[in-house]
Amino acid sequence: SQSELDYPFKLLEYFNGFRVSKVIFSACELGVFDLLLKSQEAMSAQRVAQELGTSVDGMERLLDALVGLEILEVERAEGTAFYSSTDVANLYLAKGSAKSLHDMIVYRSQTIYPLWNNMVDAIREGKNQYEKTFGLPSEDVFQAIYRSEEEMLKFMGLMNSSWVLDGHDVVTAFDLSRFQRIVDLGGCTGALANELARAYPASSITVFDLPEVVEAAQKHYSQEDNRVAFQSGDFFRGEIPSADLYVLARIVHDWSEEKCLALLKKIYETCQPGGGVLLVEALLFENKRGPLMVQIFSLNMLVEAEGKERSPSEYTNMLNKSGFRDVQVCRTGKSYDAILAIR
Ligand code: SAM
Repeated sequence: SQSELDYPFKLLEYFNGFRVSKVIFSACELGVFDLLLKSQEAMSAQRVAQELGTSVDGMERLLDALVGLEILEVERAEGTAFYSSTDVANLYLAKGSAKSLHDMIVYRSQTIYPLWNNMVDAIREGKNQYEKTFGLPSEDVFQAIYRSEEEMLKFMGLMNSSWVLDGHDVVTAFDLSRFQRIVDLGGCTGALANELARAYPASSITVFDLPEVVEAAQKHYSQEDNRVAFQSGDFFRGEIPSADLYVLARIVHDWSEEKCLALLKKIYETCQPGGGVLLVEALLFENKRGPLMVQIFSLNMLVEAEGKERSPSEYTNMLNKSGFRDVQVCRTGKSYDAILAIR
C-alpha cells in the first residue's frame, strides 16, 4: 500500500473533518432530516429546497454530500434524483426521534464551532475563549454559557442528549442498588437522574443545580418518575443535600484541581461512612495516548471551560486526597466511563 509520504491521504482526510461536521450540522439546522422523516417518500432537491426555503443549487449539493457520507440514499427516476433518509438519520438526526442528537448538533455547530475558531489563542493563553468569541467575560464559565435563556436551553439540550446514548451504561457500570438516597450534583435536566430511577427502583434521586437551571429543567423537561426531585443551590458556595451516593457527571472535568478538591472534600464531609461518590467522565488512557476522542474533548475543555479530561489515576488521586477509598474504575466502551469511590 502507498505510504503517507507518497501521498498524505490521512492528513487530507483530517483537514476535511470540519467540513464533514458542517455538512451534517447544516442539514440538521435547515431541517432536512425532519422533512425527509415526515414526508415518508423520497424527495427531489427542488421539493426539499422549496419546503425549507433554500436555493435549489445549494440544497442539491448538500443532499449529494450527505449521500456521499452515506447518511442519505438516492435513486433516480426519469432523470431526477430522489433523496430519502437512512434508518440512522431517522433515529439520530431527526429532531423528534427518541434517540435524537439534534440538540448536541445545534450546540456544537453554533457554540463550540465558533469557540474552536480561537483554538490557537486558547493554547497560547491556556484559557477559554468566551471573550474573543462572544465578547463575554471568561472568569465565570457558567455565567458565559448561560448568557441568555436561549443559550442556557441550548446547553441543557446538549447535556441531555448525551445520556440518550450512554445513560444506561454509566448508571449500571456498578451496582448502585444499595444507595437509596442519590444526589446528582450539577444534574442539569435530570436525564441521568431518570436513568438512575429506571435502573434502581428502590432509590430516590435529587437533582441539584443552579436556580436558573432547576427552573428551566422543571419547565422544559418532564420527569418520568416521581422519585426524581429538584433542589437549587451552588455546590461551591452553599451546603449540599445529604445523600448515600453523590453523582458528579461531567462536573470534575469542568474545573481546576483546586476547585475539584474543594468540592470532593465537601462531599466527603457530608457523606456518611459507607456512602459513595460516582464520577462520570470520559477517561483518558493512563499514559494519555488516547482515546483520541478524549484527547480532543480535553482541548474542548480548554477552549470552553476551566478543566480538562483526566486519566483514572488522576481521578483516583483527587478522590484519595479528599478522603475517599476503594476507588473502582469502569470503562464502558462508549463515550463516558464511571468511577466509584466509598467513604
Ligand atoms: N451532570 C450533567 C450531565 O452530565 O449531563 C451536566 C453537566 S454540565 C457540564 C455541568 C453542570 O453543573 C451544569 O448543569 C451546571 O449548571 C452545573 N453547575 C455549574 N456550577 C454549579 C454550581 N456552582 N452549583 C451547582 N451546579 C453547578
